[in-house]
Amino acid sequence: MLSNPAATDGDRPQVRPQAEGWKQQTTEDGRPLLQFKQPRVAQPKTHLADLTLAERQAKVAELGLPAFRAKQLSTHYFTHFTSDPDRMTDLPKDAREKLVAEMMPPLLTEVRRLTTDNGDTIKFLWRLFDGALVESVLMRYPGRVTLCVSSQAGCGMNCPFCATGQNGLTRNMSTAEIVEQVVRANEVIAEGALGGLRKDGGHNAERVTNIVFMGMGEPLANYKRVIASVRRMVDPAPEGLGMSARHITVSTVGLVPAINRLAEEGIPVTFALSLHAPDDELRDELIPVNSRWKADEAIDAAYNYFVKTGRRVSIEYALIKDMNDHAWRADLLGKKLNARGRGWVHVNPIPLNPTPGSIWTSSEPDVTDEFINRLEAAGIPTTLRDTRGKEIDGACGQLAAEGDEEPDGAVTEAGGHTGAGTSGTIDIRG
Ligand code: SAH
Repeated sequence: MLSNPAATDGDRPQVRPQAEGWKQQTTEDGRPLLQFKQPRVAQPKTHLADLTLAERQAKVAELGLPAFRAKQLSTHYFTHFTSDPDRMTDLPKDAREKLVAEMMPPLLTEVRRLTTDNGDTIKFLWRLFDGALVESVLMRYPGRVTLCVSSQAGCGMNCPFCATGQNGLTRNMSTAEIVEQVVRANEVIAEGALGGLRKDGGHNAERVTNIVFMGMGEPLANYKRVIASVRRMVDPAPEGLGMSARHITVSTVGLVPAINRLAEEGIPVTFALSLHAPDDELRDELIPVNSRWKADEAIDAAYNYFVKTGRRVSIEYALIKDMNDHAWRADLLGKKLNARGRGWVHVNPIPLNPTPGSIWTSSEPDVTDEFINRLEAAGIPTTLRDTRGKEIDGACGQLAAEGDEEPDGAVTEAGGHTGAGTSGTIDIRG
């Protein structure tokens, strides 16, 4: 029994988090397995996106070419989104071939592309050089384009409600593999796949403007490569993509030391904590890493992020029917957030997305409303997130990167549409 009586929740039951339809991996003493170390250490060959511009110049010089070629090559990649030597006409022919071979190894092979009926959401399935599979989701909104990127193949955090964790961690993605998801999405947008002009005649963003690290993996468990990828995203061209750090959201289950380190990086990214329960009794079961860092420690670290950076942080809260959606939990959450201060945080409840085999369901609308009302009454800004891409299993927690049907691993023709349904409309990140 949970110690907190559900006085305000009538006789609503307390459903315990339990893996349904799949077996959660456990340690010998029966606790959910946490994987911080990647079982596979293979990394792709170094790509220019793994390097700073100065490092690229040094490498180009090592290849016996003038260092300024590094800038030209970087411009092709970060501004024109191309790795095709035939399009690099400002470079001498033999130099292009050599530079591309040495500095732009193939990173992502497109295996499958699913597009929602209205065309505003695309889910990509990518194969990495060693056969590992990852996904990214591209979403168009009026005036901006958000890409949800993966940072690991699989995930070691083992959250029972998330599809990605069900197969454990395969390996960390390299810096360039993370960045390449953005470059490839930009290439796809440039080809017009996400639609051109808005219906009202206004312009859509012509490339990815917002990044959320909410695809596969726990970004802070792959800290160094993720931070390097963020630097590449914000570095001005031709060093990087020239994006705004504020439009990049790093989301974590709550790896406290890494959150504190992130607060010292001097990059003003938006920070999101996947809390999902304010009380340890429930969070211990919902977010296995809570055995290491308790809910209060994670909230303290989020608050510290705000103090150090001045950036308001987000608390993510997937609303799961009769599990974490009780009114008293909204009150407790509001109390814990207010105890640290005012104006430093907002809460993003999100209705749970179904995962394969799961019988868990999202909260009823009246319960959802009550949860939000309680937080707002406590003075906490709260925005309900609808979810994009549910019909293509592209919503939060649904990314599992299942392989395609081809037994020989042949690349599938891109551009397939799923059949039915309409996707949600509200954004995944502001
Ligand atoms: N590992 C990171 C980022 C990946 S998950 C993290 O946990 O924050 C991105 C967000 O989707 C997290 O808030 C996660 O808790 C949430 N999520 C996972 N499974 C979900 C599901 N089935 N329904 C709704 N949100 C889910």
